[in-house]
Amino acid sequence: QALGELTAGFAHEIRNPLASLKGSIEMLREDSIGPEQKEKLYSIAISEMDRLNHVIADFLIYSRPSKVEPEDFDLNAVLDKTASLLQSRKPDNVTIIREYSGEFGIKADPHKLEQVFLNLGLNALEAMAGGGQLRLNTQRRGRLAEVTFSDTGTGIPPDEQEKVFFPFFTTKPDGTGLGLSIAHRIVEAHSGRISVISSPADGTKFRITLPVRDNDKG
Ligand code: ADP
Repeated sequence: QALGELTAGFAHEIRNPLASLKGSIEMLREDSIGPEQKEKLYSIAISEMDRLNHVIADFLIYSRPSKVEPEDFDLNAVLDKTASLLQSRKPDNVTIIREYSGEFGIKADPHKLEQVFLNLGLNALEAMAGGGQLRLNTQRRGRLAEVTFSDTGTGIPPDEQEKVFFPFFTTKPDGTGLGLSIAHRIVEAHSGRISVISSPADGTKFRITLPVRDNDKG
C-alpha cells in the first residue's frame, strides 16, 4: 500500500476522536451545563484520548515492527495460551474447540505469534455476537505447519475479503483496522503465509502456514 494512502488512513483515524474531543471540551466551557452532563462530557473526552492512544500504539506496532526473536517451541503450546485467554473473554454461547494433529516444533517468535493468534481469536469472537463455534486446528502440510481459526460468525462479504489485511480497513465502530495488517506483517516476517476464506453462510476461516523446524521430519 502506498505511503500516501497509509498516511491518509492514519490521519482519518486520528481526526475523528480529535473532533469529538474538541466538541466535548467546547461544551464543558459553557456555564449552563449541569454536573451530570459535565461528568458525561469528561468521560467522552477521556475515552477519546484513550482511543487516540490506542490508534497510535497500534500504528507504531504496524509501522515499526520490533525485531523477530526466534525460539524453538511447540506451536500447540502457544495456541493453548491463546485458547485460554479467549476462554476467559468469550460469552457463554460461544464454544472453543481445539483440534491438534501432532506436535509442531517451530522456530519463531512466540510473543509475536501470540499476538497474531489473539487478534484472530478476538475478531472471531466479535463476529459471533449471537453465539457460535470457534475451531482452532493445527495440521502438518509437508514442510509446513498449518494453523486455522474457523468461526461460525457473520462472514466477510466477497468484496471485502481482499481488503481485510489493509491497514485501517475496519467495519467496526471502535475498530482501528490494524489487527490483521499487523498479523500479516508478523506472519511474513516468519516466512509464512496468511489467507482468508469466508462466506456469510458458513463463517470465516483464517489459515496460517509456517515453516517447521529443519530437523523436524514430516
Ligand atoms: P478491526 O478488528 O479493528 O476492525 P482487523 O484488521 O483485525 O481490524 O479486521 C479488519 C476487518 O476484517 C474487521 O473490521 C471485520 O470487518 C473483518 N474481519 C476480521 N476478522 C473477521 C471474522 N472472523 N469474521 C468476520 N469479519 C472479520
